[in-house]
Amino acid sequence: MPAPYRGRFAPTPSGLLHFGSLVAALGSYLDARAHDGAWLLRIEDVDPPRVVAGASDAILRGLDAFGFEWDGPVESQSGRGAAYQAALDRLDVLGLVYGCHCSRKEIAEVARRGVDGPVYPGTCRELGWRGDPRREPAWRLRVPETRVDFRDRLLGRVACDIARECGDFVLKRADGVFTYQLAVVVDDAEQGITHVVRGADLLASTPRQIVLQRALGYPTPVYLHLPVVLDAAGDKLSKQTLAAPLEDNDPLPALLAAARFLGQAPAPDIGSPAEFWDWAKRNWRPEWLPMLRAKKLAG
Ligand code: GLU
Repeated sequence: MPAPYRGRFAPTPSGLLHFGSLVAALGSYLDARAHDGAWLLRIEDVDPPRVVAGASDAILRGLDAFGFEWDGPVESQSGRGAAYQAALDRLDVLGLVYGCHCSRKEIAEVARRGVDGPVYPGTCRELGWRGDPRREPAWRLRVPETRVDFRDRLLGRVACDIARECGDFVLKRADGVFTYQLAVVVDDAEQGITHVVRGADLLASTPRQIVLQRALGYPTPVYLHLPVVLDAAGDKLSKQTLAAPLEDNDPLPALLAAARFLGQAPAPDIGSPAEFWDWAKRNWRPEWLPMLRAKKLAG
C-alpha cells in the first residue's frame, strides 16, 4: 500500500488568483493527484492587514472555475487563534520563547541583514523578561544553534544556520497577530499534511518551520519547492506587481501555460479543460520541473 499523501494549497487572500498562484496551485494539485492523495485548501488569513475583502471567495471561485477539486472543507486561519496560542504556550513551558519589546527601528539600527530581513540580535533573549503589564511584547522563538538540514525533492539538500541567517524569529507580534511561520506549522500538523508543494519564494521559511515542528514534536512533511513566476523586473508576481487576474471563463490557455511553466509537455491535441485535467493527472512528471528557475529565487 502506498504511504498516505495529504497535500495542500494555502493561498493568502491578499489579491485575486493570478498566473503565479495558478502555477503553485497546479503543481501541488497534480502532485497530490498523481500520488492518489488528498488535496486540501487553506485560506491563510492570519494577518488581517494583508487580507483583502472578498479575495478569499474570489480565489475559491477561480479555483473552481479552473476545474480544481479539493477534498474536505476549506480551512481558514482566522478564528484559529486558540490553537496557535496553545502551541505558543507549549513552547513557553519548554522555555523556548521570550517576550521582546524592541521596536523595528531599534532592531534595524543594529541588525545584520539575513535571508529574510534583519537578523534579530537577541537583545531581549537573556533579559529574563516575563511581561510588562502595560505593554504587550512580541513573542520570539529561541532558535537553536544547530544547522537545519532537509531534502527538497527538486533542489536536493538545503541547509540553513537559522541562528545566523534569521535569528530568533517572531511567533506572535506585539499587536497580538500570530505570524505565518507559527500558523502554517500548527495547521500543517493539525491537517495531517504529509507533502508540501509550494513556490520556492517560501524556501527561506522552510528551515524555520522545521525548527518549530521539532520543538512542538510534529512530523516534518516532505517538501518540494516549485519554480516561481517572475515579472520582467525579476520580481515575484503579486498584487503589488499588478499581476493580471486570470480569465475564469477561459481557463484552458492559462492551464496549458502553467503546465508548460512547470516543465510539463501537454499533448498538442488538448482542446478543453476536461481533456487537460485528464491528461495532466496522468502525466505529472516532477522530475521535469526546471530546477534553475527554482534555485534563482531561492538564492
Ligand atoms: N500563504 C502563503 C502564500 O500565499 C503560502 C504558504 C505555504 O504554502 O506554506 O504565499
